[in-house]
Amino acid sequence: MWRFRLESLHRYLSKEMPARTILIYPNPLLKEVCRPVAAIDRETSALIDDLVETMHAGAGSVGVAAPQIGVTRRICVVDVSANRHGCDNNHGLLALVNPEIIHREGGAVMREGCMSVPDYTGDVERSTSITVRFLDRSGDPREICASGFEAVAIQHEMDHLDGVLFLDRIASLKTGLFRRKNYK
Ligand SMILES: [Zn+2]
Repeated sequence: MWRFRLESLHRYLSKEMPARTILIYPNPLLKEVCRPVAAIDRETSALIDDLVETMHAGAGSVGVAAPQIGVTRRICVVDVSANRHGCDNNHGLLALVNPEIIHREGGAVMREGCMSVPDYTGDVERSTSITVRFLDRSGDPREICASGFEAVAIQHEMDHLDGVLFLDRIASLKTGLFRRKNYK
């Protein structure tokens, strides 16, 4: 027991939080409509930390949503700043609590992948520019305009909160779905 406590303390002090396990399709939790977050408390903060850690642990990952680690709450994180498609146009690390898209414009098809669907990528049409309203991790209301790759990443992660995967948005399973060539 002491050993356990010391290990927990050590982990806390070193801020070394392990990445959480990503649920893989067809896990039924990935199809659930998530519940809104009522209050940003310590539990919510810890969940956001876990999501950020899990996102950074995934090779090339630009976002993770709470249901992907088994928590059916309306929270996701996005960070496209290290990705070559999004590096010159982004808001850095975003923690989106109860996000809503209040305006959208344009449309373009892009190839998407998802840590919960490791063997495939797919062509999905998304809005090219969106305005998102959400609570940040301090509980303050925010509104941002995102475009390009960041807008796509936000729409992808927000879909997870409604139990929607990119697989559900592919127009043609014959021509729009691709097997991943490289395994990580
Ligand atoms: Zn995903």
